[in-house]
Amino acid sequence: MIDLHTHTTCSDGTDSPTELVRAAAEAGVTTLGITDHDTVAGWAEAEEAALAAGIALVRGVEMSARHAGTTLHILGYLLDPSRDAFAQHSQSLVEARASRLVAMIDNLAADGLVTHDEVAAHTPDGATPGRPHIADALVARGTYPDRSAAFADVLSNKSPYYIAYEAPSVARVVTTIHDCGGVAIWAHPMAAARWLPTEDDIREVISFGLDGLEIRHRDNADQALLSRIVAETDMMWTGSSDYHGTGKPNRLAENVTDPVQLARIVDRGSVEVIGV
Ligand code: AMP
Ligand code: FE
Ligand code: FE
Ligand code: ZN
Repeated sequence: MIDLHTHTTCSDGTDSPTELVRAAAEAGVTTLGITDHDTVAGWAEAEEAALAAGIALVRGVEMSARHAGTTLHILGYLLDPSRDAFAQHSQSLVEARASRLVAMIDNLAADGLVTHDEVAAHTPDGATPGRPHIADALVARGTYPDRSAAFADVLSNKSPYYIAYEAPSVARVVTTIHDCGGVAIWAHPMAAARWLPTEDDIREVISFGLDGLEIRHRDNADQALLSRIVAETDMMWTGSSDYHGTGKPNRLAENVTDPVQLARIVDRGSVEVIGV
């Protein structure tokens, strides 16, 4: 089974890279993609763990892009992060996310809902900061039973406490991925909690140079529409869990990618798959 979209403690997952790889092997995953938000900090540890566990590792990253007043996620697979374009993206996104998180915590703290220290205590060292770390602090306080409940309330995109962060355009992110020799796949294109695009919206985003769409994902509102668009354009397409450990209900391999599509990604990528 091929699961190409997962997170670790290097972003907003709750498993370390080693724990992720072991859990994936146990779940029957034979090829695993590691795709932390805007960072490749988990790659080295995951590589070692994948070799030890005897599964293949597709190195990737989930990059944030601003579009239509929201933040879209673009998966970059098998890219070479040693090229300048990647370092620039990663550094500026981690900074933008960090200052935005401070501003959101300020908002929440003004109403006595959480403190900076509480969030810091729930942000692993070096992790790409995000709302899930505020959620963990709120769960620890007993305000909510889990992250999802916090996201349904004070952390939602529609909450008065919500603040967006700056990110490059989709065109810019796709160019960065291509400049680094990677493959650009639009993650959960129809995840309604952030933005529910029309068919025209989807075609517009694709026109910025995307190589493919993540179709099989639990958050996609209309997978049939996405399949139709992909069939027309001959783009690549994937299916993945978007596993975040205990941070989300998504289970490893709940959606998987066809080997034919993985082969297309591998063919185009500039770094090899580990362990094959
Ligand atoms: P941020 O990156 O700070 O904008 O927060 C968005 C992140 O929160 C996404 O990457 C998701 O992984 C996570 N997230 C969004 N909705 C939920 C939810 N309902 N439960 C848990 N995590 C969520
Ligand atoms: Fe996430
Ligand atoms: Fe995402
Ligand atoms: Zn993700």
